[in-house]
Amino acid sequence: MNILLLGSGGREHALAWKLAQSPSCGKLFAAPGNPGIAEHGACVALDAADHAAVIRFCEAERIGLVVIGPEAPLVDGLADSLRGAGFAVFGPSRAAAQLEGSKGFTKDLCERAGIPTAGYVRVTSEADALSALDGFSVPVVIKADGLAAGKGVTVAMTAAEAEAAVRDIFAGRFGAAGAEAVIEEFLEGEEASFFALTDGSTIVPFGSAQDHKRVGDGDTGPNTGGMGAYSPAPVLTALLEGEVMARILTPTVQAMADEGYPYSGVLYAGLMLTRAGPKLIEYNCRFGDPECQVLMMRLESDLVEILFACAESRLAAIEQPRFLDETALTVVMAANGYPDTPEKGGRIDGIPAAEADGAKVFHAGTALGIDGVLTANGGRVLNVTARGGSVTEAQAKAYQAVDRIAFPTGFCRRDIGWREVAREAGE
Ligand code: AMP
Repeated sequence: MNILLLGSGGREHALAWKLAQSPSCGKLFAAPGNPGIAEHGACVALDAADHAAVIRFCEAERIGLVVIGPEAPLVDGLADSLRGAGFAVFGPSRAAAQLEGSKGFTKDLCERAGIPTAGYVRVTSEADALSALDGFSVPVVIKADGLAAGKGVTVAMTAAEAEAAVRDIFAGRFGAAGAEAVIEEFLEGEEASFFALTDGSTIVPFGSAQDHKRVGDGDTGPNTGGMGAYSPAPVLTALLEGEVMARILTPTVQAMADEGYPYSGVLYAGLMLTRAGPKLIEYNCRFGDPECQVLMMRLESDLVEILFACAESRLAAIEQPRFLDETALTVVMAANGYPDTPEKGGRIDGIPAAEADGAKVFHAGTALGIDGVLTANGGRVLNVTARGGSVTEAQAKAYQAVDRIAFPTGFCRRDIGWREVAREAGE
């Protein structure tokens, strides 16, 4: 079966790597792809916003499955257009992708379905938002309603910060994504990510992870798209996973179906493990990046079979996804200046040496020159990923691989997995 994968990040390289391992994978195409993905398939220039062009490509190349990596084309309804043209698609419809595309939509759904989450108020003007703030104590969380590339959330420690965040949103900082906002109670606890696959009726767990959002060691500095991750997240015990499935994910899938927006694809729950139990912080309608890289590094099952079954609503008929009982850990190597002003063009060498002992280097923002030289071409550049019997061991292997890469204009955090490494050391 020929497959089209949309996207160009480390997440998509990990998906391409795993899709290409399947005996059912015919020709693999990626749009736009990246130099790492090009090792597994053909990278093509297709604009995901041009639905007619994507459909024409799928017809010409007899595509049997389309896998949509990032959220923007999902929220934009690409899955609907492709399904309308008769193609099997892994990824939710526009209406279902509102779970990520509108924080207010998700909060209302949680309230109707009794799903544990932070108390909240939806607001549509600065004046309403400022008066709603009176009902919250600090810290308080202010969120632009729509997609804001991970920048739309402020955890305000003071009333002044909260007011500034509200003014920012309604002054148009996030464009249409900030036409509405959500004000939320602050949840205290440890964060973890949990993934499930669903075809709208059947739902199967697909692993857990923890990521590191801040740019600097010790979780300092500005937020980023993610500087590293590991899977599984040991804090999400089997007992807690059962609770998350029963109280959060399953009722969500049920409510989406009942309300006329059946959800199909991966459902990524950002959770806060509070003293009162796990609560939903947010949903994403696609795999996390870099969480996907660590999930793929552990996945034993055939990814094509799973994603195709999901797309064709036959998830109940296949074997549940199996994962290696090991930890995978990924370290993001970013270009100097990331997240604000990443330096482009820096040379990268040493990937084959880094992979010599079983690590895998997934490409994100890289470019390959005609001279065969690999250079940095984005903020997050490489995801150096390794497995081990513990987080400590996976971490040691990942950094051993990192240290074989020569990327003088890049940097990485040196403490990915620190929480678990400390726990494993009995601290
Ligand atoms: P979100 O984009 O909704 O995941 O929010 C980004 C980050 O803000 C989360 O990963 C949390 O660290 C933090 N956050 C969001 N909502 C809350 C909340 N209600 N309580 C505490 N922290 C939150």
